[in-house]
Amino acid sequence: MSLLQVSHLSKAFGGVQALDDVSFELPAGQLLALIGPNGAGKSTCFNTINGQHKPDGGAVLLDGQDIAGLGPRRISRRGVGRTFQVSAAFHSMTVLENVQAALLSHHRKLGQLWRPAARYYRDEAMQLLQQVGMASQVERACGVLAYGDIKRVELAMALSSQPRLLLMDEPTAGMAAHERNELMALTRQLVSERGISVLFTEHSMDVVFAFADRIIVLARGRLIADGVAADIRRDAQVREVYFGS
Ligand code: ADP
Ligand code: MG
Repeated sequence: MSLLQVSHLSKAFGGVQALDDVSFELPAGQLLALIGPNGAGKSTCFNTINGQHKPDGGAVLLDGQDIAGLGPRRISRRGVGRTFQVSAAFHSMTVLENVQAALLSHHRKLGQLWRPAARYYRDEAMQLLQQVGMASQVERACGVLAYGDIKRVELAMALSSQPRLLLMDEPTAGMAAHERNELMALTRQLVSERGISVLFTEHSMDVVFAFADRIIVLARGRLIADGVAADIRRDAQVREVYFGS
């Protein structure tokens, strides 16, 4: 059984059918790219899986259990994580403190006074930062980091809830080409080492073809292709959507 099974998922906003009968599967340990033109429904797909949107119809099965419409908190507890941007308010905190805060939040202890709480989860936070290659920068304020390094911290924060499925919506947006490749290589490594599954969106076809195990393509809310890079490259419908040929 696949870790994630999206089945006949539909979601409309007013007259816009953002998701139209979308079905796909994501086995454990796979890096799956979701691509498609702007407005295709990619973010809506993510937000429906993570519980921010309630679908109009269809199911989202995690380990065979329907989680559709459960709400973000409960879906996160079932093992679905997502990357968040480190908000500006957290830029004065150190790298280590940000990951500790994410761990505290996951363990529902964020309401406590921050200073005394900073003792907690230090080892776990250090371990996560080591995994994303940030061990040497833990005492730096997030606000002074290079953009690619902030993305690594965000990845460590997302991993703090120990997700089995990680959703990354445009993780490399705004990055230079070498930073994109580094972040995706790191993600690839986390998928292999932790056996987690990752669903990500990405504009660069080079990155998608280089790193994804499999690719699914949305256009106007409909899934038009599902396959490995070689299939997607020569798919007539995909070529039409992307190149008009
Ligand atoms: P993508 O991420 O592929 O660019 P989106 O999922 O953001 O696409 O959007 C799909 C369609 O749904 C677009 O037409 C968009 O305008 C519409 N849409 C998305 N979210 C909302 C919303 N919260 N309210 C109204 N329309 C929305
Ligand atoms: Mg989007």
